Amino acid sequence: MITVLSGGVGAARLLRALRAAPDAPATRAVVNVGDDLVLHGLTICPDLDTILYTLAGLNNDATGWGLTGETWRVMSELEALGGESWFRLGDRDLATHLYRSQRLADGATKTTVSAELARSLGVDVELLPVTDDPLSTVFETARGRLSFQEYFVRHHHDVVVSGVEVVGAPSARPSPAALSAIHDAERIVIAPSNPIISIDPILQVPGVADAVRRRRADVVAVSPIIDGVALKGPADRLLGELGHEVSCVGVADFYGDLVGTWVIDEADARYEAALRERGYRVRVTTTIMGRADHDAALAAAVLS
Ligand code: GDP
Ligand code: CA
Repeated sequence: MITVLSGGVGAARLLRALRAAPDAPATRAVVNVGDDLVLHGLTICPDLDTILYTLAGLNNDATGWGLTGETWRVMSELEALGGESWFRLGDRDLATHLYRSQRLADGATKTTVSAELARSLGVDVELLPVTDDPLSTVFETARGRLSFQEYFVRHHHDVVVSGVEVVGAPSARPSPAALSAIHDAERIVIAPSNPIISIDPILQVPGVADAVRRRRADVVAVSPIIDGVALKGPADRLLGELGHEVSCVGVADFYGDLVGTWVIDEADARYEAALRERGYRVRVTTTIMGRADHDAALAAAVLS
């Protein structure tokens, strides 16, 4: 059994690659909920949904978010009513949020609802929100304090960030299932997700970073920064703005003693020595996913 600390797209692609590997082990994902939001009265969990849709083969690869074959009738009607429409929710996607919101109103936890959605969509990776308590990642920016989706969607993450706070983290209780997934796993993988806004909110839940650190020898991390840039999203820019080196070494220094082995891209082979000097084992391979041969190479490096 392996456990993958997961944000959205980078994690979903890695989970898909791992599931496609020969003799793939049973897999659990401990998932960030710092991006979760309530909109139109609905609870939306972007990272859980990205993983769910990707593993179900329903993700829209063209846009990188949302569902394939999506339609937008409800959004158009909502816009006509003057409702909030900057955060796009497609008709198919809305069914997920309606289902989740009703189940939460019934008293089910996010953990339970995630398991129900995974079962309904035929997803065999256990999706474990890191906590059932509310977290919300907020940004101190040149344009004031912004919620996650204001920063990410409304401002297209094109605003200077001076600080990130995961509101709710200090008092959040880790979900027992997420903690045991970290204790019990043969191997723990840190997905190539955004270190600051996808993985750090997971690690900030009390007890989680310590649990990962105790398993350090079995922790393998994949760098989301390749040759100084993020393939998608603001990970590179955020690392730089918050004073970290924008490279796989900068990401390694950010996680520090939580990681035993780094998997870095061939384009970053020049950093291997610096990582070894810091005491990490290092594997160099292609880490750009989305092609079957690349996915297989990366999965083999992570599982070997
Ligand atoms: P989000 O929550 O949807 O923004 O996604 P994540 O935080 O999980 O992932 C965003 C990060 O994934 C970005 O920093 C990307 O560079 C990284 N990423 C996306 N696809 C790949 C890939 O194929 N390989 C690697 N190494 N990183 C990737
Ligand atoms: Ca996310």
